[in-house]
Amino acid sequence: MPELPEVETTRRGIAPIMTDRRLESFLTHDTRMRWPVPDDLPATISGRVVRHCGRRGKYLLIEFDHGTQIIHLGMSGSLRRVPLDEPRRKHDHAEWVFSNARFLLHDPRRFGAILWHPAEAGPVSAHPLLARLGVEPLDPAFNGDLLFRAFAGRRVAIKQALLSGSVVVGVGNIYASEALFKARIDPRLPAGSLSRRRCMLLAEAIRETLSQAIDSGGSTLRDYVNATGEPGAYFELHAAVYERGGQACNRCSTPIRRIVQGQRATYFCPRCQRR
Ligand SMILES: [Zn+2]
Repeated sequence: MPELPEVETTRRGIAPIMTDRRLESFLTHDTRMRWPVPDDLPATISGRVVRHCGRRGKYLLIEFDHGTQIIHLGMSGSLRRVPLDEPRRKHDHAEWVFSNARFLLHDPRRFGAILWHPAEAGPVSAHPLLARLGVEPLDPAFNGDLLFRAFAGRRVAIKQALLSGSVVVGVGNIYASEALFKARIDPRLPAGSLSRRRCMLLAEAIRETLSQAIDSGGSTLRDYVNATGEPGAYFELHAAVYERGGQACNRCSTPIRRIVQGQRATYFCPRCQRR
């Protein structure tokens, strides 16, 4: 599933092309997504100028003077630039057309979303999908103290506390395993048992892991393509534990273990990652 690095990679791909440009037309070809795409959205935004391309968690925010288009890529979605005359493929559900560029939202499983938040409804950060999200991991406000305070008293395993998104957004299944390995923390530890110092190491590891993934163009899907149509490379380049069950740890050669937590696979080194 596209995680924060894929969405941020997409944002960085579309922002220079869309920002301050007039959207000539927005077209929907199939409005059946996680929630129906509003029928009047093409009329609402076609002909208007894009002011900013932002992101909150895994939501892309295409901002206009009169409101914000909220886009989620769901389980299988991608937003990619295509030539103006390229025919649509199956599962290309929506289309943004500029004078010199065109983007298609492709989503075979249709768990994605395209919604509209009008400016008169207030800041988009107050939208019900965004209002309760945890802090952004690449925001300066995210640090070990914040993790330490948020985890205090919590008995849930640290891996699951990260995945929940209520403390920090965007640390999905792959990046949670990778960041805990980097910080040498056993994924089964109760979140509230981590010392302030270990929380600081973890915050740093999360920031590094996500930054590295963004730098390599996102990655969590083997068939993922970014906004320019290039595949991400994080898997090949950087995964230290994820999907490496039974293989030797890069640091100590102990076989990597695979366990299941909350129905999700967790990978860790039983020697490097201490309790
Ligand atoms: Zn190890």
